[in-house]
Amino acid sequence: MRKILFATSECVPFVKTGGLADVCGALPKGFNKDEWDVRVVLPNYTCIPDHFRNNFKYITHFYMGTGSYNPGAHVGVMTYEYEGVTYYFIDNLVYFGGSKPYGDFRTDIEKFAFFDKAVLSILPIVGFRPDLIHCHDWQTGLIPVYLKTEFAAGEFYRGIKSVMTIHNLRFQGIWDIETMQGLTGLPDYVFTPDKLEYKRDANMLKGGLVYADYITTVSETYAQEIQTPQYGEGLDGLLSARHMDLRGIVNGIDYDIWNPETDGKIDTNYSIKDVHKGKAANKRALQEALGLTVDENKMLIGLISRLTDQKGLDLIAEVMEQIVDDNTQFVVIGTGDERYENMFRHYAWKYPNKVSANIYYADEMSHKLYAAADAFLMPSAFEPCGLTQLISFRYGTVPIVRETGGLKDTVEPYNEYEGRGDGFSFTNYNPWDMMEVINYAKYTYFVHRKEWDEMVARGMQKDFSWDASRYKYEGIYSWLIGW
Ligand code: ADP
Repeated sequence: MRKILFATSECVPFVKTGGLADVCGALPKGFNKDEWDVRVVLPNYTCIPDHFRNNFKYITHFYMGTGSYNPGAHVGVMTYEYEGVTYYFIDNLVYFGGSKPYGDFRTDIEKFAFFDKAVLSILPIVGFRPDLIHCHDWQTGLIPVYLKTEFAAGEFYRGIKSVMTIHNLRFQGIWDIETMQGLTGLPDYVFTPDKLEYKRDANMLKGGLVYADYITTVSETYAQEIQTPQYGEGLDGLLSARHMDLRGIVNGIDYDIWNPETDGKIDTNYSIKDVHKGKAANKRALQEALGLTVDENKMLIGLISRLTDQKGLDLIAEVMEQIVDDNTQFVVIGTGDERYENMFRHYAWKYPNKVSANIYYADEMSHKLYAAADAFLMPSAFEPCGLTQLISFRYGTVPIVRETGGLKDTVEPYNEYEGRGDGFSFTNYNPWDMMEVINYAKYTYFVHRKEWDEMVARGMQKDFSWDASRYKYEGIYSWLIGW
């Protein structure tokens, strides 16, 4: 039995702010249980819903020093079984209290430095010795570092391999070296330019990328892009130096959760056979609920996203007046930067029958929008993988994307001459090129509906379940473990 531990800061169904949680919730479930024992460890945030937390089982607690700043922090360990997977939750009210998993960046760095050491410290106590720890994003970047330094001498830890997956290179966990030394107790020699040091500060993700045995990211194109200065976020040199140990594996989506035939959160279930009727019914229901003009013949464009610069919202701001028209409505669900939140609020106020701005996190409504929308807009400046376009395919919603990262790998541009493709895409990051493909999408929708419907069907038939990608992770794990 090969034993794998996922270490993550978020995981569906317990806590989610973005795609990382979807991945860590879905990927561990599908491994063949006769060959793989895959478990997950994450913080016991008090914002995890009570119906889960009340059922967590207490295992133990102890005190752990994390450097000179914190000679003895409480580490509680809880466990819970969910859909056949064992989860461990690391408890510490000071770090993981509050209404959100993340807060200001300093507190976040301190709490995840604590979490990373705690992950390794609990293993002998819970009696689980993984062959490999799969770390996700900067929050877990110090695990490979601890494994090869402070914990390297321990018999229990010897030979444990690590994989570091980049879900988003923009976030790295950076603070000054002196503070990081105080927080982590890591030896001086790790804070050098060839290891954790980054522009005279200390960088948690960089630590993970230097010390992990293998690096993955979430699409093949992003794996290439991050080796260039344009997308490398200052780490392109390191990533190209490690290109032999770097691979892009595209994410899947959880087909149990995202399935229009069975989804209990949408108004009317449908399949590829009755997608036209099904989507029209969902569209009318959503238009009604949001106070838009109720008319299934309007084209409905959806957007569900963190509202940050990454997502190309400045392009939308430039041409919003052209995106919506008498026949086209726009519904956004998202939170993030105030200027984007206010931009969408403004247009919802200006065009109450055509634009709906839902500036909050709304899981159930997101399902309704995937089902109701005709097209889904995602003009990202960069996109490691992107899940929303994959969910859109599944719900018969045509993605309109910028050709970058995972968007490039998963959306095949529509080719009217050959009757191929399942979405619309543009290359250059500017509002005019984006508007051109939106207009092309509108034209196809209103004038060539048969071709549009064929495109919808091609998208729905694509397979973005986890099976293919899980197999690739299994290959990497087996190779690193050596059997
Ligand atoms: P990222 O990880 O960069 O945020 P992804 O496309 O990989 O982007 O994943 C985003 C996930 O978060 C999707 O499952 C999407 O439906 C969900 N999501 C984003 N914002 C919201 C929101 N405001 N309400 C509900 N779901 C959201």
